[in-house]
Amino acid sequence: MSAARPTDAREHLDADVVVVGLGIHGSATVLECALRGLRVIGIDRFEPDHTRGSSHGATRMIRRAYPSPVWNPLVDRAYSGWDRWAGLAGRSFVHTTGGLYAHARPGSLQGPGCGLLDRDDFTTVMPSLAVPAGYAAVHDPNAGVVEAAQALAFARSEAAARGADLRFGVAYQGWRPAEEGDGIVVDTDAGTITTAKLVLAVGPWAAEAVPELAGIFEVWRILTVTARAGQEVAAAPLLGSFSVDLPEGLVFGLPEAGGHGLKLGVDAGEVWDPAVAPAPPTEEEIDHLRSLLQRFVPAADVEHLDAVACLYTMTPDKRFVVGALPWAPDVLLAAACSGHGFKFGPAIGEALADLVQGLPRPDLDFLAVERFGVADGSLETS
Ligand SMILES: Cc1cc2nc3c(=O)[nH]c(=O)nc-3n(C[C@H](O)[C@H](O)[C@H](O)COP(=O)(O)OP(=O)(O)OC[C@H]3O[C@@H](n4cnc5c(N)ncnc54)[C@H](O)[C@@H]3O)c2cc1C
Repeated sequence: MSAARPTDAREHLDADVVVVGLGIHGSATVLECALRGLRVIGIDRFEPDHTRGSSHGATRMIRRAYPSPVWNPLVDRAYSGWDRWAGLAGRSFVHTTGGLYAHARPGSLQGPGCGLLDRDDFTTVMPSLAVPAGYAAVHDPNAGVVEAAQALAFARSEAAARGADLRFGVAYQGWRPAEEGDGIVVDTDAGTITTAKLVLAVGPWAAEAVPELAGIFEVWRILTVTARAGQEVAAAPLLGSFSVDLPEGLVFGLPEAGGHGLKLGVDAGEVWDPAVAPAPPTEEEIDHLRSLLQRFVPAADVEHLDAVACLYTMTPDKRFVVGALPWAPDVLLAAACSGHGFKFGPAIGEALADLVQGLPRPDLDFLAVERFGVADGSLETS
């Protein structure tokens, strides 16, 4: 990488970049920055195994099928990023299972290799999935499952091995320009850190960290259940990743892969304050998800389910917010959220490392803060 470090001739600063938040996006960012030789400090207010944010849990879906071609370049970078991490780790985190995405309205997803299937082909492609009558489905042969917990642990340990300084149990409190414009002072509950660049990758706490953008973000409590592992009917080639667009919300399912069990959730939930730990799923909520599993994967054993609550951070257009704050160009926001961000972990880390180094990334313009009409820290509400 030929770009300069942001602190060339600024060795007196504590870091080239401070990354706040060590979920998948912050952890990917510290790794990608450390790989480029940047001096990086990462902080998180909780301990590594916490379940208060969005990145906990064993698995996440990866797919090429997206609603608009504007996503395709970033999806490409996501797939190549997972390959890059596999090269570093000496193992892959992605299981390719294929995916089937069923919608009452046809043609709503696209992507390289994706195509609308004839109804007669549904059972050939995914025999264990029961697609409702009247639904069309897009097939994505490159879809699959990411081993999320293992990828997250890898990103952190590899970053630390490459020299990143990771500090858990340290809460970010704010930032201010250093005197005479010499970098940024980051205030934490464990003292101050001086840095050239600041990355805020705080997941559901984006509105707290950037109050100017509070009107953009809404946090939802989302539930998933996981059936017992070891079920052939719940694994490829009989089952792949899937979704079914129901009036109550998008039902999403992940097949068994890597010994992690069949998982299902619904892309809808109550608005939640991230300052409060997400309430664990109730018996009634678990029974509802069980009935959806029975409906869409009728051959699976769904008697014993593990259930977890997790937080989504939604934006109005379900797109991420990635890039510099227009009113503070050295402060970068990585709110890669809205329930579909994990698959982009390595790509978001790469993007933030590029932006930290001042490299142009016009492919990220569709995710910029500016699309909300924010120029000076005030949201346009009209
Ligand atoms: C149930 C569920 C299912 C999902 N399924 C998929 C899927 O199948 N495929 C997919 O691609 N994506 C999926 N997602 C979305 C994906 O998991 C998220 O987009 C991603 O995990 C967001 O990661 P993050 O790093 O931005 O946020 P987080 O993981 O929430 O990390 C933010 C971190 O910032 C820290 N923090 C916050 N404020 C401060 C502060 N003041 N000081 C210090 N630290 C702070 C928090 O402690 C936290 O660790 C799913 C999400 C959920 C909840």
